[in-house]
Order: sequence, then C-alpha cells, then structure tokens
Amino acid sequence: MATQKMLKFVTIGREMPEKRDAASRSEDFHEIYREFAAAKATEQASRCSQCGVPYCQSHCPLHNNIPDWLRLTAEGRTQEAYLRSQETNTFPEICGRICPQDRLCEGNCVIEQSGHGTVTIGAIEKYITDTAWEMGWVQPAAPASERMESIGIIGAGPGGLAAADRLRRMGFQVTVYDRHDRAGGLLIYGIPGFKLEKDVVERRTQQLRDGGVEFVLDCNVGEDISFDAIRGKHDAVLIATGVYKTRDLDIDNAEAKGVVRALDYLTASNRVDLGDEIPDYEDGELNAKGKRVVVIGGGDTAMDCVRTAIRQGAQSVKCLYRRDRANMPGSQREVQNAEEEGVEFVWLSAPGAFAGHVTGEAMQAQERDVDGLPAIASVRIQKMRLGAPDVSGRQSPELIEGADYDEPAELVIKALGFEPEELPRLWGVEGLNVTRWGTIKADYQTHQTSLPGVFAVGDIVRGASLVVWAIRDGREAADSIADFLTGAARVAAE
Ligand SMILES: Cc1cc2nc3c(=O)[nH]c(=O)nc-3n(C[C@H](O)[C@H](O)[C@H](O)COP(=O)(O)OP(=O)(O)OC[C@H]3O[C@@H](n4cnc5c(N)ncnc54)[C@H](O)[C@@H]3O)c2cc1C
Ligand code: SF4
Repeated sequence: MATQKMLKFVTIGREMPEKRDAASRSEDFHEIYREFAAAKATEQASRCSQCGVPYCQSHCPLHNNIPDWLRLTAEGRTQEAYLRSQETNTFPEICGRICPQDRLCEGNCVIEQSGHGTVTIGAIEKYITDTAWEMGWVQPAAPASERMESIGIIGAGPGGLAAADRLRRMGFQVTVYDRHDRAGGLLIYGIPGFKLEKDVVERRTQQLRDGGVEFVLDCNVGEDISFDAIRGKHDAVLIATGVYKTRDLDIDNAEAKGVVRALDYLTASNRVDLGDEIPDYEDGELNAKGKRVVVIGGGDTAMDCVRTAIRQGAQSVKCLYRRDRANMPGSQREVQNAEEEGVEFVWLSAPGAFAGHVTGEAMQAQERDVDGLPAIASVRIQKMRLGAPDVSGRQSPELIEGADYDEPAELVIKALGFEPEELPRLWGVEGLNVTRWGTIKADYQTHQTSLPGVFAVGDIVRGASLVVWAIRDGREAADSIADFLTGAARVAAE
C-alpha cells in the first residue's frame, strides 16, 4: 500500500525545478534554480522506486533515509518528511543546493540506470527543508537539561557548525571561534550566492545562536588567542579550520598586478553581495567589470570564479584547464551552467607565463601597482595533449611543443586548489600529529587527534573535500566528544 503513490518513474519524466534563463541570472547573484511548487515536489518524489537496498542512501555520505522522505513527500506528509530528513542531516537545505548529486545520491539512483532519469533527490531535499523553515518547523536547540562541560570549536564552517548544533542539543556548553567576522566558513565567503544564497547560511547561524551556541568571531586562533588557552578554557576542543593555503604557479610574473587568488576574489564578491564595502573591489583589483578574464583551474572553485566574473560584467571569460572536459574535477552540471552563461572553456591548455603591459625601464608608473609590479596584459597559453595514464590511472597532460599563443587578459584568477596550513607550527602546538600532506591525523571514526580531548573534522583532516563530508564528520565528532566527556565525568566521579 505504501508504494501506491510511488514507482511513477515509468509514466512521469524527470524534472528539475525551473532554471532561470542565462541572460537574467547573469545579472545578479541570486540562486539559479527556482523552488519546486508543492504539487511538483509531490509528483517528482513519487518517481522513486523504493528500492529494498537503496543505493542513493548508501552513496550519500550522511546515509540519508532518502526513500523514506521521498515517500512521505509524495504522500503530502511534508512535516514528517522534514523530521525524517533532519535526523541524519544538520543542514539538508544546504546539501540539497550544493552537493554534487550526480556523483553521490542521484548518480546511484536505480531508475537512472534503467534509463528513466534519476529522481531529483537534491531539489526535493531542498524543498522539504525550505518548506520547514517557512512553516516554522525548524527550531533551535532546546536541551532537556544543561550540562556543565564546555567544548571549544575552532572554525565556523559546516564541520564546526554541525558539531556545535549536535553538542548543544545534548546540553553541552559550546563556543565557536572563527577568524572571520561572520560564521559559515566557505559557505559564507567561498561559495557564491548563485549556488547558495547568503541568507540561507545566516538563518542557520542565527538558529545556533538562538539555541545557545556562543560565537567568538574576529578571533584568529594562534594570533588573538593561543591554542593552549582554548584548551585551558574548555573540556574538549574540536579543530575544524578547513584548508586555506593556495597552490601557486611557478611561472613568470605569477604575482603581477591583475593576477589574483581565487579565494581573495570570491571572498570580496561574497562580501559585496552581503552589503560590505570592499576597497579592492571598488578600485577594480578584485572586480572583473569590463575586463577580459582568464581563470586557471578545472575544479568547483574555478567554476565559481568564472560565473562570478560573468555576473560582475566581464568583457569575456575564459577558463583554462590542462586536461579535457571528461577529465575535469568540477561538476559537469556547473560546466554546463557556466557555458550557458557565456564562459568559454579552453581545454588542454595551461599557462606558460604572464606578460605585463610594458616591461623594464619603459614601464609606465600607472601600469605598475604600489609594489612596482607590471600590470598583466596577456597569458602565454601552452597547448597540451593527454599522454599515458599515471599510477592513479589518470592520463597525464603533456606539452605540445611550438603550439603556444598569447591570450589577452586584464584579470587572471588562479584557482589551483588548496592545501592545509601548518597548524602545529602556526599554533606552536607540540604533539599534534599531521600526515605528510599536512592534514591533521585523526581517527576515522572517533575523530580524536593525537592530543587527548582534541578532535578534528572536515577539510583540515580530509584535504579539500565537500560540505556534506564536513557535516558528517562534525556530527560523528560530536558523538565522540560526548562519549569522551561523559566517560571522563564517570571516571572523575568514581
Ligand atoms: C570556492 C569553493 C566552492 C566550493 N563549492 C562546493 C560545492 O558546491 N559543494 C560542496 O559540497 N563543497 C564545495 N566546496 C568545498 C566545501 O566548501 C568545503 O569542503 C567545506 O566548506 C569544508 O568545511 P570545513 O568546515 O572543514 O571548513 P571551512 O568551510 O573552510 O571552514 C573553516 C573555518 O575555519 C576558520 N579558521 C581557519 N583557521 C582559523 C584560525 N586559526 N582561527 C579561527 N578560525 C579559523 C575559517 O575562517 C573558516 O570559517 C567549495 C569550496 C570552495 C573553496
Ligand atoms: S546530503 Fe547530498 S548526497 Fe545526501 S541525499 Fe542530500 S544531496 Fe544527496
């Protein structure tokens, strides 16, 4: 009986929520997909085949009970669907918007494999929780009883916030420290509004505040307060600082005026979107308006940069990637969105050098920046072909000799990925073990580091990863911290 409303994939086709047309969405930073109307969400949820062994669920890092909340949605029981969905996911409306579903839940949907087009799981997850917010079903933590133990969380990104929410609901005293002036980590200053509108993040931060989580912002641990001081203040500490050291290029003029780092560029744009005044944006340094823009990289960060440049009114936007379309790390959905918005992808291409307007003695003062660096005028592009597969099985790009050419550009954005900062050195902490890549060593299940009572989650453990993995880590670490603290309390009481 329960499946009566289900298995409609044979008669009902796959539909995503309406996507705003490329011309109008390129004018602003609002999300590009509209919300499902209730009837459409019900209809699309009813396409689920209610598999006995749901591959979507096993490929969702949070093991969301997807078939359950799809069925409840199909039956019009949206509040129950929300309750089911938030049992396993702290921020379902955020994952619904920005998970690469094609690689996770939807990529493993059985009806997709039988040629019917996957259930639009992400869009329905977003619909359920956005409806819950509208209806007032999303409530801040209200623990049945308060506990004395306190936890200091360093980093207010999705990993830290997911842990904060869960610990606070258990009644622990939670303080979150972040070096930025707003909480959210990459959700607020990395990912642009056209993928995740800022008020969606800010209402979650407010919900945590309303539930009693304390935020200490503008507080750079290691500078404004020492790690040891935080350890001294709290009974347990969670490190959730993400990865922020930018990979760079070893080529001529890599620091020229007009060559900028992706995160500086995106942070400025996100701040402007939030209403802040940003001098580097106003004076044009971090603003693509009217410029020929070249973005280097093929991951999610590069996709966010090219699409931001379009919205800022760039004259042209080209994305250089040294492999081909099939081998790029960024989501194919985002590539398609970028192409619709006017981005040109230059596959099998890598930068060889950046050339300035005028070099040497003849350089005009106005063409230098304050440090006397030349202003970028063009990128020397080297053409590549894919060679033999390396040990990972991936084909390595090889240079095609003599195929170089110059591409004019006034703004070049380097989106080459991120590495961990050297936390033990920066924080002067002995005994905090790291891997050879610099990520913090933590137990996979408990998230405990080599220091007693110190746990770590998210990108600083995994390397640059995904929001959904940070949420999973944060939730798991909260449970381990609770075990650690209540275990410790038991020992102390004996
Ligand atoms: C441009 C961009 C786009 C992305 N798009 C997607 C996407 O579409 N989908 C997806 O799933 N993932 C995406 N990601 C990846 C995703 O954002 C990260 O995997 C995720 O945010 C990691 O969460 P986290 O909590 O570990 O760290 P973060 O989100 O990086 O948060 C870490 C926080 O710690 C703070 N911090 C760091 N050091 C200190 C210190 N010393 N003292 C105090 N505070 C400190 C930082 O200010 C920050 O707020 C994207 C990443 C980038 C850069
Ligand atoms: S959290 Fe991500 S992977 Fe899991 S169901 Fe939601 S969109 Fe899919």
